[in-house]
Amino acid sequence: MLHQPIRPPVDELPSSATVWSATAVPAPTLPSLAGDLDTDVLVIGGGVAGLTTALRLAEAGVQTVLLEAGQPGDGATGWSGGLIAPDYIRHTPETIGRVLGRAKAEKLTRMVGGSARGVFDLIARHGLECEAREDGFYAPAHNAALAETQRRVANQWSSRRFKVSFVEGERIEQVFGAERYVGALRFAEGGSVNPLGYARGMAAAARRLGAGVYADSRVHALRREGDRWVARTPGGTVTARRLVLAANGGNAGLHPALRRTALPLHVIQFATAPLSPEERAVILPEGGAFTDKVPYLFTARIDDHGHLISAFATSYLVKGQRAHVREARRRVAQHFAALPNPRIDYLWEGVAWLNASFLPEVYDLGDGAFAIQADNGRGISLNTMIGTEMGAMLASNDREALSVTPRAPTPIRMHAGAAMLPKVLMSMAYLSN
Ligand SMILES: Cc1cc2nc3c(=O)[nH]c(=O)nc-3n(C[C@H](O)[C@H](O)[C@H](O)COP(=O)(O)OP(=O)(O)OC[C@H]3O[C@@H](n4cnc5c(N)ncnc54)[C@H](O)[C@@H]3O)c2cc1C
Repeated sequence: MLHQPIRPPVDELPSSATVWSATAVPAPTLPSLAGDLDTDVLVIGGGVAGLTTALRLAEAGVQTVLLEAGQPGDGATGWSGGLIAPDYIRHTPETIGRVLGRAKAEKLTRMVGGSARGVFDLIARHGLECEAREDGFYAPAHNAALAETQRRVANQWSSRRFKVSFVEGERIEQVFGAERYVGALRFAEGGSVNPLGYARGMAAAARRLGAGVYADSRVHALRREGDRWVARTPGGTVTARRLVLAANGGNAGLHPALRRTALPLHVIQFATAPLSPEERAVILPEGGAFTDKVPYLFTARIDDHGHLISAFATSYLVKGQRAHVREARRRVAQHFAALPNPRIDYLWEGVAWLNASFLPEVYDLGDGAFAIQADNGRGISLNTMIGTEMGAMLASNDREALSVTPRAPTPIRMHAGAAMLPKVLMSMAYLSN
């Protein structure tokens, strides 16, 4: 079912709400925690990581409670572009072997490469209404040298039986409706979703299967008492044998070992007015989503309502809402000749958290507690897998269920300075674009 978006009047600044809040299926009605509960597993955070963990545990019949500070999808999940990108951010199936060793690297590559399949299978299994579009994810190359590398990377994936190919120059111009690229890596199983609808659907499914899912229940204190974890919210207490921290940027405030383990990347995400049929005929006419590889990266996809959705990282040089709108329009026009003067209907800001490794991380906090920290801008599909595997691991007590080896968290050195780095680098990237 298509939900009709509420659109701001033409001559106003765009809405600062996400496009998803106007187009997703309605949020399920969830209680907030009132009173004291005891459970086997407590999951903190109702984004894609926490929801997939709770959903998998509920499927396995494990007693589970999930506490979310706001509503499901209120964090990075609901702010995201909803791209389903079964790819590494910095690595390839070969280079990852040098970092992790052959066996661990191949296991992680199977998870990353299979992550889009995992998302769309989960959506189908639970009948989630979230504009699932399995029409491919592309990583375009802007010069011949990168294109040559991408051709080799395509082979690395396809030799491992993933549906990844390299699409050459002229054809890619037709596929994107953009002239800037000389070719693109194509992940046939990728695509996009309405990420807020995805989160809301999973919350409702987890609840149907017996998980206790509580909204407006921020955990403000978490302690170890005897052999149990005890989480306190304004309305009550949850006591649990095992614990999964899936609060993303909020993890640092819940457990001291997680302080200074991630870096914030502030991202402006936006959606244009719905494209006309003529514009649709030339811009991503075959569907699909892409994110390029330049430092000041460009990304694009179209949703079921015809909004073109894109993003840019914040810098010290583009500040304030009007400047953000100008920059959004400049970037769209720069990439799509058919949209020289786009109207922006929605523009919002979110924080994506980066691990220093640029890899998904699972932290073992001891005493049956784990943290999922896997953002890095690919979290919709990767956290779906990590959460699902985390649920499977807790249900079976078999750590082999995880594709990421849990390790002790280590703080990032000189964190206060390092936290400014993404914005500094983006300012330099902006100048070169
Ligand atoms: C603007 C933007 C665009 C992005 N685009 C994409 C994209 O197109 N594709 C992609 O794959 N990835 C994208 N990402 C990254 C992706 O959104 C994240 O990797 C992913 O959503 C992280 O999921 P999560 O469940 O770990 O965290 P979150 O979705 O942030 O969920 C954490 C939840 O924990 C809750 N919480 C925090 N503290 C507490 C507490 N004390 N008690 C209870 N609950 C708490 C929060 O309210 C939140 O709902 C984007 C990120 C941003 C910011």
